[in-house]
Parts: sequence; structure tokens; C-alpha cells
Amino acid sequence: MVKRVAIIGAGASGLTAIKCCLDEGLQPSCFERSDSIGGLWRFQEHVTEGHSSIYKSLTSNSSKELMGFSDCPIPEEYPNYMHHSKMMEYFKMYAKQFDLIKYIHFKAQVCHLRKHTDFPITGQWEIVTEINGRKESSVFDAVLLCTGLYMQPYFPLDSFLGVEKFKGEIIHSSAYKNPEKYQDQRILIIGFGNSGTEIAIDLSRSTKQVFLSTRSGAWVINRVSDGGYPFDVVHFTRFRNLLFHKLPAALINQWGENKVNMKFNHENYGVKSQHR
Ligand SMILES: Cc1cc2nc3c(=O)[nH]c(=O)nc-3n(C[C@H](O)[C@H](O)[C@H](O)COP(=O)(O)OP(=O)(O)OC[C@H]3O[C@@H](n4cnc5c(N)ncnc54)[C@H](O)[C@@H]3O)c2cc1C
Repeated sequence: MVKRVAIIGAGASGLTAIKCCLDEGLQPSCFERSDSIGGLWRFQEHVTEGHSSIYKSLTSNSSKELMGFSDCPIPEEYPNYMHHSKMMEYFKMYAKQFDLIKYIHFKAQVCHLRKHTDFPITGQWEIVTEINGRKESSVFDAVLLCTGLYMQPYFPLDSFLGVEKFKGEIIHSSAYKNPEKYQDQRILIIGFGNSGTEIAIDLSRSTKQVFLSTRSGAWVINRVSDGGYPFDVVHFTRFRNLLFHKLPAALINQWGENKVNMKFNHENYGVKSQHR
């Protein structure tokens, strides 16, 4: 009997999960609550409750060489770092190449996942899906959760003392779409990670002033590295990995810090990371 596998979510992970099941002779059924593939990379003008959300200018921070699936290289003419619209084109290309769409049930939200009554003998799972307001239950031999990590924003407003006195707007980065509505405003961005930094750049072109706040600093690494090659292509190699495991951490850290400081001296900007 061919084993039936339920895959929840049709983002990057869900699509590759369908393909892997097919490669292994399994029978996949994918349930996707939205009406499209692509997950997080599908840009929407408005935030929808319970869906991950991205901003209009979002471009990948890992290169196309490292992001591409091994069985479907990203076309040569695509840029090294891809805008979300290009990512979506690529996912569609991947789904078409391996004929994956026919395995996906769209607008199908999985609302329950539980062990089937005879789980101790069969190892089967029962899932309940809601399609057009109708609930349906089905049994599978295995379930792959491909629901992503960024559905629920972490928004610890309580940890900012006096926040209730602030009269301006406060949003989480997942609710940020584009800089238009913030023209000529003074903006404080809390958090010096990828999203905070990119949104600061996006806003800096049309707002009065942008402040970027960091608790413990960070290392600013350019997408473009030696010789104009993508950073991850140059540095995330098997050879480097081997070297990093053999050499003392202090030496590696010193080398890395010197290298990034050559482009952008962190001390000059007061953002030197407390973490090596
Ligand atoms: C701002 C930002 C920038 C990023 N940049 C990069 C980058 O440059 N490079 C990189 O590699 N990664 C990046 N990431 C990480 C990103 O999460 C991954 O690239 C990728 O989107 C993960 O794919 P996924 O399929 O695991 O999850 P998602 O893309 O989140 O897809 C999950 C899917 O599951 C569906 N789903 C969830 N719950 C249910 C349910 N109960 N029933 C049915 N369907 C459900 C959702 O609708 C969605 O379609 C970034 C993330 C963010 C937030």
C-alpha cells in the first residue's frame, strides 16, 4: 500500500516536501490555507491576521545560489539577491517543472491534528481541514508540518516602560508595507536585525529622520563580498566550515571582525556587537 502523507503549508518547505514525497514513491496531499503557493514570499498589500507578512521592498538576504533548490537551479538571468516577486516566479517555476499544484488543496486550513484511534498499531494521524466553512476529517500515514516560523509576531510592548504615554503609531515590522505613509515623520526602529535595518533604509529616503536602536549591537555584513561575489557564496563553503572547526574560535572571530570592520567600522557608529 502506498503511504499517504499530509503536508501542511505550500510555502518553500511545503513545495519541496511534496516533491520529496513523490521522489520516494509516497502519496502527498498538501493543505494550504491561502489561495496561493509561496507562503511568506507572497506579498500582500494588507496584513491578514494569522498570515506571515512582508514589505514591498523585501529582497532576499541570502544569494540565489544558496537559496535555489538543488533540483531546479535559479535561472542565470535572475539577480544574485532576489526581490520577493522574483522568489514567487521561481516557486511557480519549481511547482510547474515538477507538476506539484495538483497535489495542493488551496483555501484548506488544517484546524486539528491528532493521533488516529489506532495510532499505536498503524502510526496514523487524523487531520481536520476546513474548506469553505466545511470541516472534513481524513487519515494519513504521516504528516509534514510546513507551516513556517513567522506567523505570529513577537510584540513585547509590555517590556517598554511608559509605552502607554506615547502618542504616535507603534507597529511590529510584520505590519510594515512601504514608506509612503511615514513621509516627513521621525521614526524609531527598535532592533538591529535584518528586518530593522532594511526597513530603516527603506524609510530613510522619505522620512524626516530614522533612529535605529540596538540593545547589544550587531555585525553588519554586506550582501556583496570579495570580488563582487555574494557573501554566502564566498564564505559558506565546505572548506571554510572545516577550517572554522579546526582553528581556535578566538582566531576566527578576530579574522571575521577585522574583515567586516574594514568596510564598516562598528566602533565609529557605536554598534559594535557584544557578541563576537
Ligand atoms: C522578512 C523576512 C525575510 C526573509 N529572508 C530570507 C532570505 O533572504 N533567505 C532565506 O532563506 N530565508 C529568508 N526568510 C525566512 C523564510 O521564512 C523562508 O525563506 C521561507 O519562507 C520559509 O518557508 P516555509 O515554507 O517554511 O514557511 P512559509 O513561507 O511561512 O509558509 C508556510 C505556509 O503554511 C501555510 N499554513 C500555515 N498554517 C497552516 C494551516 N494551519 N493550514 C494550512 N496552511 C497553513 C501558510 O499559509 C503558508 O503558506 C525570511 C523571513 C522573513 C520574515
